[in-house]
Amino acid sequence: MPGIHTKYCPSCTTEGLKPTSNPAILRCHNCHGVWFEDGSLNHAIAQEYECIDQYEHEHHLGPALHTSERLCIRCHVTMTNYQLLMHYTTEIDCCPDCDGVWLDKHEIDQVMHSPKLQQALTDLNQKVSWDSWLFQFLTAMPAEYNVSPQRTPWITRTLVVLCSLVFGAGLLSPEINEWIFKNLALNSDTLSPAHFVLQLLTYQFVHGGLAHLAGNMYFLWIIGDNLEDALGHAAFLALYLFAGMMAALAELLLFDTSQGPLLLVGASGAIAALFGLYLVWFRHASLTFMFIVYQKKLAPHWYFLIWSLINLAGMFSGQGGVAWAAHLGGFALGLLLGYLLKSYVYRKNPLIAMLNQPEAMVRR
Ligand SMILES: [Zn+2]
Ligand SMILES: [Zn+2]
Repeated sequence: MPGIHTKYCPSCTTEGLKPTSNPAILRCHNCHGVWFEDGSLNHAIAQEYECIDQYEHEHHLGPALHTSERLCIRCHVTMTNYQLLMHYTTEIDCCPDCDGVWLDKHEIDQVMHSPKLQQALTDLNQKVSWDSWLFQFLTAMPAEYNVSPQRTPWITRTLVVLCSLVFGAGLLSPEINEWIFKNLALNSDTLSPAHFVLQLLTYQFVHGGLAHLAGNMYFLWIIGDNLEDALGHAAFLALYLFAGMMAALAELLLFDTSQGPLLLVGASGAIAALFGLYLVWFRHASLTFMFIVYQKKLAPHWYFLIWSLINLAGMFSGQGGVAWAAHLGGFALGLLLGYLLKSYVYRKNPLIAMLNQPEAMVRR
């Protein structure tokens, strides 16, 4: 039985709790759970964040769920399980009499990050608004609901600027436009292997029309920032360019050159790979879909399933002018890389990892 002088772990019950550098925080060396006394949890959470002076986790708790099997180590009354946040279903043990809180090992990270988690869940659970409706009605482009990136998406912005500059240069004169399509577009008739490899990079910055450019740049803009944040600038750029090259090769593989050479332009292949990454790492994000006038938030897997079906239908109908195979090849590569890099991205971005747990409740 728990003695008066030794405080026993509420979870293991036989192991004594050891004090940490903060005397109000005790740790179990057996199960690695932690006991927080007298508001020391609030202090510990606030210390995690430079921008927060005070945090009161009890104000953000979700509903009281049920009585816990554990006893408060101080009051010896049964504790109550509370849901960590309104939209995060982790259950933590709180004493109804004192301010003591017991956290199991796997809950510690989630609780320490709860101010960020709460902000993220508020962003993700926003309802569609009249301005997102109007935007999509007028442009046929989806609104995106996702967490705000921590770092400035310099690469994404630079890619958008470069594509726009190349397009703008082509508008200046027909000669410049011809030069761009002759030298920068991917042409399967290009004889020099070195030039062909270079074109595998440059074709991604050339666009055939304003709608083509605007559509691609919009998607790059809304999803590139989160992916660049998750991967880091250099890895994002490398992955983007590599995916664009592979997408072009996929198109070339399925293209019937007996009907003439393949002339390929556009960032679509690389952006399709970003769709794949986004689907794997940002399951909690939403993109809006509009059915005539009814706008609905969709999870990325539904949104990109519809997108893939449209591309498959296009490919099998043999409709020319759109690089269906480059889209689908890029997307498949993105999915594969997304799965391969998943644990790396989750390790680097605890918030993304926590939002991908089943505990996160996203309303759509
Ligand atoms: Zn223990
Ligand atoms: Zn108590």
